[in-house]
Amino acid sequence: MSQKNKQPLLLLIIAAVISFSSLSSCNQVDSVEAASSQTKEQTKKPVKSKETTMAIASVKTTADTLTIIGVGDMMLGTNYPSAAHLPKGQDCTPLLSYVKDVLSSGDVTFGNLEGVFLNKGGTVKQCSDPTVCYAFRTPDSFMPCIADAGFDLLSLANNHTSDFGHKGRVNTKKLITENGMKYAGLVDCPTTIYENNGVKYGFCAFAPNSGTCDIRKIKAAQNIVRELSLKTDVVIVSFHGGAEGSRHQHVTRKTEFFYGENRGNVYNFARKMIDAGADVLFGHGPHVTRAIDIYKERFICYSMGNFVTYSRININGVSGIAPIIKVFTDKTGRFLSGEIVPTYQVKGKGPQIDSKKRVIKKIRELTTKDIPEAKLVISDDGIITVTK
Ligand SMILES: [Zn+2]
Repeated sequence: MSQKNKQPLLLLIIAAVISFSSLSSCNQVDSVEAASSQTKEQTKKPVKSKETTMAIASVKTTADTLTIIGVGDMMLGTNYPSAAHLPKGQDCTPLLSYVKDVLSSGDVTFGNLEGVFLNKGGTVKQCSDPTVCYAFRTPDSFMPCIADAGFDLLSLANNHTSDFGHKGRVNTKKLITENGMKYAGLVDCPTTIYENNGVKYGFCAFAPNSGTCDIRKIKAAQNIVRELSLKTDVVIVSFHGGAEGSRHQHVTRKTEFFYGENRGNVYNFARKMIDAGADVLFGHGPHVTRAIDIYKERFICYSMGNFVTYSRININGVSGIAPIIKVFTDKTGRFLSGEIVPTYQVKGKGPQIDSKKRVIKKIRELTTKDIPEAKLVISDDGIITVTK
């Protein structure tokens, strides 16, 4: 081949390499992302503590124990349809201040981002009945409140990720990265890897909504999990599935339908993901808490409810209590023990530690009823242990 003919081939190879790296950039721990998470780690370390004055109980851990923390839905306020749905002075700082110490006390902390971050514009989703149409658009300036509270991993696989179209998704992804966190769950970005203290955490997320990795396509989901488990030490899987509301607190072990939509079979999904290599499963979507479970020594929480939902989401009764789940595993993700830190939301103030420990009682009641064979004990203080 002459030099002249080689040039187009060379250009083609360069183009292919560039396009491959841009396609996979959200899936890789590239040098920029690695550097940003390192910086975050260095700045976060001083506030991280295994002991916290707010923790209700303590669990024995060793240097080899990993602490993996998860919470449910997060929506810090919306400027759509009006700024009246935002906190006073458009200041999100107080909202997570009461639980920050707990959220920052792990090796990795996860939450579901139930909404889009965008100051204005975007194409609002079409609803047949606008009076019951909820589209969440949180100001850009609110993203540091999520990062400062201790979050590392965010799920974008939910029913609000496309509330403001392409523009909303692009801006949300950009802000998450700029604030040193990672995300997953979209078809164009199904997985991510977070590294801390030499441990690689793989993260992926699923939902029944368009543009997200589909919770109903079990084989495709298993392939994602399997591939991630080959590259990482611990695989964390988030899912937004099941019917919503106080009438849907139970795990039915069947495919659930809500508003005519197939919202998946969360019981089957969780097991199939563990079969494929998942280690910790954090569920959400029903806006109420559900049972916990153990399968092949791996931990499942079927729903973690409304963790911080400032406006436009019902927080009365069982909709206003939620756990901070702490999962203690060995370095391969095998469940050792856990802890439910109970919280409840106060309108306008965000989650508070619940001295009445209501969500601990609720999770225990639901687990006893729905997963009676689970070899788990939940103490009055929320400590989760495995029975022989
Ligand atoms: Zn949702």
